[in-house]
Amino acid sequence: MKYDVVVIGSGPGGYVGAIRAAQLGMKVAIIEKYNTLGGTCLNVGCIPSKALLDSSEHYHNAVERFAEHGIETSEVKINMKQMIKRKNEVIDQTCKGIDFLMKKNKIDVYQGTGSFVTKNLIAIENVDGRKEIEAEKVIIATGSKPITPEMFNYNKVRVITSTEALNIDKVPAKMVIVGGGVIGLELGSVFARLGTSVDVVEYMDRILPTMDTDCGKELMRSLKKLGINFYLSHSVTGVKSGKTSCTVSVQKRDSEEKFDIKADYCLVAIGRKPYTDGLNLESIGIQKDEKGRIAVNDHLETNVPGIYAIGDVVQGAMLAHKAEEEGILVAEIISGAKPHIDYNLIPGVVYTWPEVAAVGKTEEELKSAGIPYKSGKFPFKALGRARASMDTEGMVKVLAHKDTDEILGVHMVGPRVADVIMEAVALMEFRASAEDMSRISHPHPTYTEAVKEAALAATGNRALHV
Ligand code: FAD
Ligand code: NAD
Repeated sequence: MKYDVVVIGSGPGGYVGAIRAAQLGMKVAIIEKYNTLGGTCLNVGCIPSKALLDSSEHYHNAVERFAEHGIETSEVKINMKQMIKRKNEVIDQTCKGIDFLMKKNKIDVYQGTGSFVTKNLIAIENVDGRKEIEAEKVIIATGSKPITPEMFNYNKVRVITSTEALNIDKVPAKMVIVGGGVIGLELGSVFARLGTSVDVVEYMDRILPTMDTDCGKELMRSLKKLGINFYLSHSVTGVKSGKTSCTVSVQKRDSEEKFDIKADYCLVAIGRKPYTDGLNLESIGIQKDEKGRIAVNDHLETNVPGIYAIGDVVQGAMLAHKAEEEGILVAEIISGAKPHIDYNLIPGVVYTWPEVAAVGKTEEELKSAGIPYKSGKFPFKALGRARASMDTEGMVKVLAHKDTDEILGVHMVGPRVADVIMEAVALMEFRASAEDMSRISHPHPTYTEAVKEAALAATGNRALHV
């Protein structure tokens, strides 16, 4: 069989790229080594983690917040098996949706591991054997896997990654999480809300170290109230695993101070690495960079003409929407168009409560680049909508150029900011100023009014409600 485009990997990068190529009239095949389509995002990432975040939030609210709203409940109990079953049903429905989209767009789906025989010949191997298909162009979208250094003794039983954590069907008494990044804080929130005692060990001196410092500070305050215990500037020196528990050895950075924590689970969440195993990249000379990512140019083309790579397996943020944009970009480039992605405007979101969302430059980045800026902040506690729902933690911060007033970065911690951030993304796409943002009429009462107020604060301390 011969195709215009063969996509290897069916995550949000691969399947979206395949759909766009098919929409543009190309004959497309997609190869996926697992039995379900959708990759990390649908099977063990974005969707299942958000399903558990939602379920655990309902429980937490019922136990901690309903009474203040005047809702009395009798005993509220967790049925963890049902929580996991619902999560699995959500995954199932979502993956089946991708099967439908492949059929609708007449994309041939091959189950098996794809590997290069030549640059235009791809082998597919599965339990039934091996076949080969021909490809004019290839898009590699094989994603990433968790980083699990040997000293953690990752065994998928007591020392786990997010993949296993999403299937724990009994509330653990104690969990140590290595890494105060996105996965650590999202899954830490799930278990802390369900009653697990959660310790987060973070190597850096703050959580979410790649985001604006104010975001990490604000979120940490909220997560401490939830009961999460943080060891910042600490590192894990080893993990010993038994049948029913594990012991995590922790050391304070630049100090002799050491201690052990016994827990039901040690969740390793220290980042993910690009996944290229089994692709046989060497046989056709595809180059990788120093971090093991497939090296690509501005068009996401590898050093071998006609072979492209997208998503987590290449440089840039490991985010589903970034992978999707890259899938679309490559399909359009192959069709002869000249699309563009502004990587500065890929938003980042952490689905804790309060949520964290950001786009553009952080205050630290502006400082180190020597860009003159002004900053306006507005706290959610001053917002009527936030008081009505009792979600008063967090703030919105707008950073604008000191001279031109162009919005350079927007950082938020607060209720539903995962959705609110889109206003900032859209305005920055059109290179709006903080004054533009402040003059737009925002519906009252909504959480979005905090954005208007922060923009007013940035344009000369003009916030109205503080
Ligand atoms: P992947 O989704 O990893 O898909 C790659 C696919 O390729 C896999 O299905 C794999 O089996 C397949 N494959 C690999 N090698 C081969 C081969 N040789 N042959 C055939 N198939 C192969 N991002 C967000 O934007 N928002 C979130 O809320 C979010 N939450 C997350 C939560 C968790 C717990 C995790 C782990 C990640 C989360 N992410 C989130 C990140 C997101 O999942 C990834 O950025 C995204 O899935 C990357 O997409 P991709 O298409 O590059 O690769
Ligand atoms: P991360 O990069 O977000 O966080 C890893 C954290 O671990 C960092 O804070 C880092 O300083 C710390 N760390 C690294 N080595 C350490 C060590 N030895 N000891 C203690 N701390 C250590 O990585 P992650 O949380 O594993 O997530 C992986 C990827 O998945 C991220 O790039 C993220 O983009 C993506 N993801 C996104 C979402 C989302 O968009 N909401 C959710 C989950 C995952």
